[in-house]
Amino acid sequence: MTRLALNHAAFTNGVSQLHGEVTKKMFSHLYPSIPLEEIPIHSVTNGVHTESWVAPEMRGLFEKYIDTNWVDNISDPCRWKRVYTIPDQELWETHQILKGRMIKFVQNNIYRRMDRNFQPLELIRECAGYLSKNVLTIGFARRFATYKRAYLLLKDRERLARLVNHPERPVQIIYAGKAHPADLPGQELIKMVNDISLEERFRGKIVFVEDYDINVSRHLLQGVDVWLNTPRRPHEASGTSGQKAAVNGVINCSILDGWWPEAYNGENGFAVGAERDYENEEVQDREDANSLFDLLEQVIVPYYYRRVEGMPREWVRRMKDCLATIPWKFSTERMVKEYTRRFYLQAALRGKAFSADQCRLAGQIQEFKKLLTENWHHVSFRSVQVHQPPVLKEDAEIFVQAEVSLGPIQPQDIVVEVVYGKVSDHGLDKITLMPMRLVQALENNVYQYETNIVLIRGTSGYALRVRPNDTNFVHQFELPLVKWAENL
Ligand SMILES: *Cc1c(COP(=O)(O)O)cnc(C)c1O
Repeated sequence: MTRLALNHAAFTNGVSQLHGEVTKKMFSHLYPSIPLEEIPIHSVTNGVHTESWVAPEMRGLFEKYIDTNWVDNISDPCRWKRVYTIPDQELWETHQILKGRMIKFVQNNIYRRMDRNFQPLELIRECAGYLSKNVLTIGFARRFATYKRAYLLLKDRERLARLVNHPERPVQIIYAGKAHPADLPGQELIKMVNDISLEERFRGKIVFVEDYDINVSRHLLQGVDVWLNTPRRPHEASGTSGQKAAVNGVINCSILDGWWPEAYNGENGFAVGAERDYENEEVQDREDANSLFDLLEQVIVPYYYRRVEGMPREWVRRMKDCLATIPWKFSTERMVKEYTRRFYLQAALRGKAFSADQCRLAGQIQEFKKLLTENWHHVSFRSVQVHQPPVLKEDAEIFVQAEVSLGPIQPQDIVVEVVYGKVSDHGLDKITLMPMRLVQALENNVYQYETNIVLIRGTSGYALRVRPNDTNFVHQFELPLVKWAENL
């Protein structure tokens, strides 16, 4: 299905920068003669519909301190700087109201489940005392797909118990989520969370909310203090719930996967683990779990409980950093604008041009593609001559000459070019292209080309290639035919 879609789409993109890179690698076998960097897969990072996820009370603050018409221009970063004018007290009190509402909602959810399941009356009565407004509250709500690793904190129960039951600075955690009906490991995970929540030492401090849906999601991400995301990097294409949390000044604590590397600036949230790839999933789990516990114990918890005249000033500062830097960028407004500007307008114009005049242009391009595909085996380099200084260094000038045989293909149908950049494991990186000029036609459909290139800093290799050229292509590899000169 992916291949079918890739072959038929004019534009292809991942839903975060990292996802775009991962997608290129995953499907590089479909573009065997194209350098990884040039594979025509782009990225547009997801955003959320701000108005749908912001709490009414928070919205009130935005109207008062950003602009009464703040929703008319959500993707403008300048206006969001005004969140720093919200008095700390007002922002904190608003957050506490949302937290209180969320806790009631969760208590009620648990109460109904216990009641339905004929739990003992003492236990049912206990729910009203579950969770506290004065305790640092972590939310984790998402599909229970195993790659999202809801189990990460549950790997070390002793350490978790110490965190949750700390005498002065306790922590409480709310889990919610569903697993796919066919995802048995995911369902096991839910069972594990639920079992843990029933242990004496965790009761009322680690809770599981059933029936995860938009309403549950909304309450949690408007009312917790920290939104936790622990995917196995780089499996999270984008992730969006953290963006919804940020709209409410809820601070993200996440693995640097999906959208988070683009948003995290060291001040506006917390990053778990390293920005690296792992061979071994167990090692990755262990290191990420350790990193998360360390971060919670040494940074997040002390930070949250540091009070100045009863107010967590530094925490509120971080909430403002989050509001100033995240919602404008990870909004559907920015996203849709980006899709429109980069893809939709071009695609629409091309669609219009194609269909005009009884699809004349579409017919022409189809003919062109057919001609090139059928005759591409005729294309070859007859000879390549390079005049270069003995040592390749910055600013070195290289003169390149080539004779190219085209068969029935015409010179205006192709581009001959020098591709230069940095040699890496997968060919060339940081690529620069220099088209070669046609000097003369020799006999038997052989053509002579030449050019000069000046090596820029960091260049360590170059290559020559021929590729189709059509000004109506949306990108240079719409017809992914390339012929490289060998033995350079
Ligand atoms: C936002 C949302 C999701 C997606 O969240 P991720 O962080 O991408 O996993 C899933 N379900 C509901 C109900 C949501 O609101």
